[in-house]
Amino acid sequence: MNIVIFLGSAGSGKGTQSQYLKKEWGYRHISTGDLLREEMARGSSLGETIRLKVDQGDLVSDDIIIQMIDQTIQSLVATNAKGVIFDGFPRTMDQAVSLQSLLEPMGRSLTKVFYFDLALEESLRRLSGRRIDPRDGQIYHEAFNPPPPEVRPHLTQRSDDFPEKISHRYDIFLKETMPLLDYYGKALVPLDCSSPIDQITSTILSELGVSSANA
Ligand code: AMP
Repeated sequence: MNIVIFLGSAGSGKGTQSQYLKKEWGYRHISTGDLLREEMARGSSLGETIRLKVDQGDLVSDDIIIQMIDQTIQSLVATNAKGVIFDGFPRTMDQAVSLQSLLEPMGRSLTKVFYFDLALEESLRRLSGRRIDPRDGQIYHEAFNPPPPEVRPHLTQRSDDFPEKISHRYDIFLKETMPLLDYYGKALVPLDCSSPIDQITSTILSELGVSSANA
């Protein structure tokens, strides 16, 4: 089973590539951002603690993240998925070390770490236009993928998708997450995220050795 990490700043296309691998190749998609939003939607006190950080564009504490991901990783023992993608996790060195120590006893190791490389200007352009239909999770973009008129009244914008929050998230990415590039060394595959989506997908599939013969 391939175990991969998608590491990159917000808006770099990690979610899009994850959805493709999930739909077409049966990969399991584990996004800490989604897990955190689910907890916030439950309205628990933990969810409220998380919201204070997410709304500011700050990182949620390593303790909360590691506890949350621990349960999910344990469920991988029984999975028959062809692969697993960690999307947006790890984001700090402590999280990376914890992931290692959770996988080791299971006899699992990372296959590849994909680094989705994107400049701040492009991140701002992509995220500030992002709109979500909460009824089905469909994601639109005001300029690149405009919503149909009848959907427009339902659309929401993520609280952390406003320009000053996007810049703050980018700064945090540079400070907390960029050091992981060295940590992963040879396992790291850089992806130029200004390239067309299909081209990025092809690189990922070829790095994973995924083809209809061995998927
Ligand atoms: P995402 O959906 O991956 O863009 O994550 C949205 C927000 O959730 C981030 O800006 C952080 O506030 C929080 N978050 C997601 N994943 C992590 C993580 N691995 N560590 C800390 N905070 C996280």
